[in-house]
Amino acid sequence: MFLISCPFCGPREESEFSYGHEGHIARPADPDSLSDAEWADYLFMRKNPKGWHYERWNHARGCRRWFNVARHTVTHEIRAVYKMGDPPPAIEP
Ligand SMILES: [Zn+2]
Repeated sequence: MFLISCPFCGPREESEFSYGHEGHIARPADPDSLSDAEWADYLFMRKNPKGWHYERWNHARGCRRWFNVARHTVTHEIRAVYKMGDPPPAIEP
């Protein structure tokens, strides 16, 4: 269990949130031009790092808003919480 600081509500237990998978996945600019393999890559292929990861989270049992988190997947340390649409911050190793 760890704390996530919702940018709208403040720090809450992780159990109040839903994980929304990897952040900053851009929708293809021209979807009609993609091959099946490129669609599969866009829909299903995600990073699974042992280390820092940019993720989307939803405060499902709170304000229900989405935001981004930079979280270490081993230690669960959170270095940044920022709003959707904001660029990912640089994370020092
Ligand atoms: Zn919230």
